[in-house]
Amino acid sequence: MQEQLDNAVCGYLILKRDGQVIALNQALKKMLGLQDDQELPNHMHQLLSISSRVYFQTYFLPLIDTKGFVSEIYLNLKSKTGKVPVLMNAVEKPENGRIECAIIEMSVRDRYEQELLQEQRKLEKIVQETDRANVELQKILREVEDNKEELYMLNEQLQRLVLTDALTGLANRRHFDEELFEYMNLYEENKSGFSLIIFDIDFFKKVNDTFGHQVGDIVLQELSVKAQSHIAVTGFVARIGGEEFAVIMPNKRAQEATEWAEAFRRKIEESSWLHTPITISVGVTDGRADDTRETIVKRADDALYNSKESGRNRVTCY
Ligand code: GH3
Ligand code: MG
Ligand code: MG
Repeated sequence: MQEQLDNAVCGYLILKRDGQVIALNQALKKMLGLQDDQELPNHMHQLLSISSRVYFQTYFLPLIDTKGFVSEIYLNLKSKTGKVPVLMNAVEKPENGRIECAIIEMSVRDRYEQELLQEQRKLEKIVQETDRANVELQKILREVEDNKEELYMLNEQLQRLVLTDALTGLANRRHFDEELFEYMNLYEENKSGFSLIIFDIDFFKKVNDTFGHQVGDIVLQELSVKAQSHIAVTGFVARIGGEEFAVIMPNKRAQEATEWAEAFRRKIEESSWLHTPITISVGVTDGRADDTRETIVKRADDALYNSKESGRNRVTCY
């Protein structure tokens, strides 16, 4: 321990109550510029500048007397090269009345303080940057929040577009496939009946050839409006091909659906058209156990094919 104190990084000094020096370590000798072979100072006054001596007498010793310790007293030591500002902590040992002092050079302390200050400044900068980044993040989050609603609406619009036929505004083939899938599942779950009706314009190529493609488009649009209004809200109608349409009728078995289809076929035949009258051929079927989307669509298609084969402008139910 003795050796450790001797080689400690701070100065170490033992005094008697009257200020006589009992011991001092190597670090303190170095601060004072004392060589090993030099005689050691025997009183505290020999270590101090004049002003510090006064301070020592009038402040340090009375404090030791009253409190038994002194914290962070600033003194100037007298060294060969001039004054050495130091910070001293002292405590009186009650067992022997000796005063033990730890002394640190102010320059060292200053350096520590500077380093601490630098670290503190770095920390402050980091805190400031973090604050700035947080503000930026909040701004971005608000923008994201604002855009979310718009995005949501755009998404809905997109969803609608993806499922809608551009020319007629009816559901498109993709939407039809999804809808039919739903009905097949419902059928599986609770045997709720439904029918599938597919209709196709007769000799539509001739309409295009005679009146032009644009008129053909108008006919498709007119037919879509008529189909939608005839089916009202009870069913689902889609354009599934060029001049081919499909209707899903919930809660209708084949016979009822055939009656509906017949009435619709007649309506198309008899209604008035902007440019040219048309007729349609129709295939009807209903959902059955073990049906897949493919089997039910094929049955309706086959029925439609039969209507075409047997002269067009008619309804076939399979
Ligand atoms: P069928 O009675 O056997 O059905 O004869 P069709 O002439 O109606 O049938 P076909 O398959 O020979 O011709 C269908 C025509 O539909 C050919 C094509 O140009 C036309 N078509 C398909 N999509 C559109 C469209 O979006 N607009 C127009 N104007 N014509 C279309
Ligand atoms: Mg056709
Ligand atoms: Mg066709």
